[in-house]
Amino acid sequence: MNVTVRFAPSPTGNIHIGNARTALFNWLFARKSGGRFIQRFDDTDRERSKQEYADRILYDLHWLGIFPDHVDYQSKRFAHYDAAVEKLKAAGLLYPCYETPDELELKRKIRLSRKLPPVYGREALALSADERASLEAEGRKPHWRFLLPNHAGDPSETQRTDISWTDLVRGEETVDLASLSDPVLVREDGSYLYTLPSVVDDIEMGVTHVIRGDDHITNTGVQIALFKALAAEPPVFGHHNLLTSATGEGLSKRSGALSIASLRDDGIEPMSVASLAVLTGSSEAITAVSSLEELAQKFEPSAASRSAARFDPADLVLLNRTILQNMPFEKVRDRLVAFGIGGPQAEEFWLAVRGNLDRLADAAVWWRVVSQGTRPGIDFSDADRAFLDEAFDLLPEEPWNGETWKAWTRAVKDKTDRKGKALFRPLRLALTGLESGPELSDLLPLLGREETLARRP
Ligand code: GLU
Repeated sequence: MNVTVRFAPSPTGNIHIGNARTALFNWLFARKSGGRFIQRFDDTDRERSKQEYADRILYDLHWLGIFPDHVDYQSKRFAHYDAAVEKLKAAGLLYPCYETPDELELKRKIRLSRKLPPVYGREALALSADERASLEAEGRKPHWRFLLPNHAGDPSETQRTDISWTDLVRGEETVDLASLSDPVLVREDGSYLYTLPSVVDDIEMGVTHVIRGDDHITNTGVQIALFKALAAEPPVFGHHNLLTSATGEGLSKRSGALSIASLRDDGIEPMSVASLAVLTGSSEAITAVSSLEELAQKFEPSAASRSAARFDPADLVLLNRTILQNMPFEKVRDRLVAFGIGGPQAEEFWLAVRGNLDRLADAAVWWRVVSQGTRPGIDFSDADRAFLDEAFDLLPEEPWNGETWKAWTRAVKDKTDRKGKALFRPLRLALTGLESGPELSDLLPLLGREETLARRP
């Protein structure tokens, strides 16, 4: 089977790490099966959708390493939805309703008081042509409901109607259509809700697998019925658990919390985000995975747990450390240039400091430490100063390499009465101005003898 998946956010805000989870599940699934990935913007809500958000979403996806095979916008496809509406109307499966929200609420309360399920009672289906005409003469405009196939011919007599599918993530799933109201597909003003356009697109774009959050499970029951009403074979569905914060709260596109943009601005690496977004709530341990190809190997949709996937944003920095620690120079060369880090020493420098970074930008701090001209001004005690004087006199001649530090400190230890922290701390402070950092055996050759001597306090 030629696999086609899609990621279908509404462009109404910045995507967050939970949205990235959905995008990545689809992308990794497509990568594993040699399939296509469609980026579809569900922008039928013209008020809230913005091109600017769609552009930012594409930018965020690229940053994560997702490159869609095709990009489409629902706002350009209204003619297709109109055609589907005509088909449903002709089949008697889409009917006009005139109730106001207040009237609907009243009906709901009445049903509840009669111990009936609080679903729409299909009263509008019984309206005669005259009654409809007079409602319209009053100025009412209809909204349109899809008649769910939960009856045996008489829509006023609903009966249990299980829609079942084998979910890619959750296994056997069932939704009883008798427990649902006929969904509104078209609003009074003629605008579309998400339900129908999504199905029309999935049919026409040849989507074979719909992988999305488990907040869509009920929609799936309705949408499978819609696929059938439009004489199409439903795709395979997979519903993954949603990411929640450590305190159990959901994420929202509007709040901006944990948006991909804010994580990027905070110096979090794309693979740290991808590792956490995909591996949280799976059977795999959360580890820093270096590439999406490698992550695809670990990705198994059916292994995701059903309950909400709690994650701790603090893990992102831990993952970042590991990602940076394993990052080869070729992968960061250009990005380092942006921090002013370049030239013949850049690679050696990177290899020396990469194990000590929370964020790539921290490399700039170490670049300043090793680059010529920085003189850490530390106020040493007289004893330390005397010790350092002796130590600097023992600096080996060049050429220097990875062994120089060891040879030097051994000589210092033999000559002075110091060892351990009392020996290493003042040396580190004199050379870097900082209490801790990369191995001095790596930093020393980068400094060179002349620069090292210049740091003699
Ligand atoms: N626009 C929908 C959403 O963002 C898409 C759901 C789907 O994948 O079908 O929730």
